[in-house]
Amino acid sequence: MGESTSRFLLRTDDLCPTMSRGGWARFEALIEEFSLRPILAVVPDNHDPELEKDTPNPGFWKMLRALESRGATIALHGYRHLCASRGRALMPLHTMSEFAGIDESLQQEWIQAGLDTLRGHGLCPRLFVAPRHGFDHATLRALRATGLSAISDGYGKWPFQFGGITWIPQQLWEPVERQAGIWTICIHPNTASDVETLRLREFLRRKASQFASVDDVLGDSGGTVRGLLGLGQSAVWARLRRLRTEAQKAFGRG
Ligand SMILES: [Zn+2]
Repeated sequence: MGESTSRFLLRTDDLCPTMSRGGWARFEALIEEFSLRPILAVVPDNHDPELEKDTPNPGFWKMLRALESRGATIALHGYRHLCASRGRALMPLHTMSEFAGIDESLQQEWIQAGLDTLRGHGLCPRLFVAPRHGFDHATLRALRATGLSAISDGYGKWPFQFGGITWIPQQLWEPVERQAGIWTICIHPNTASDVETLRLREFLRRKASQFASVDDVLGDSGGTVRGLLGLGQSAVWARLRRLRTEAQKAFGRG
């Protein structure tokens, strides 16, 4: 598929054993029906009461292994999903976050512990997804130190590199028609309404062939990422600031 075609990545957030089973079942059915290979953002050691929607699902990790074997990409979604830090984040969408402002060595400890937990369940985490988009330069260094070299976050039409990390932008919180580019649609299965779920299904009926996997997206770039690559750091920040307004429309939904 050429550069003139838009491609979509589906990302489902806040997966953990106590997530809403009914909420998740709707999206698991869509993944199956349309043979999707989404990003599954998994909280390795959830302590967030907001994500305790059901009793722990004993089949949770097995279900993730099955989805990963069918092409889904596992993302480390923070550590405990407790957003108690007021540190300044690179993506300024929320005031409180889990990672931004936390000492770098502790961030690295959390990331490593999270990776160990997911790997202990037989998964192969390949991306980082920060709770509430909250991460800073120390997070990027900590990710590099643990060998995790890609995140799902940021703006832009194409994956780009910044801070030694490959950024696969996440720009949408619902299915929206888009021109050329790679567009990540972030869904929260715990809280998505039936109307939102139905809207995604209708979109998939028309566009399923344009839904890609992380491997497709990174493979497409032929090893070199596009977009902001080549821009100086100040240009990157200027663009982030310009796009902040648009992102703030989705405030509270990260
Ligand atoms: Zn989250």
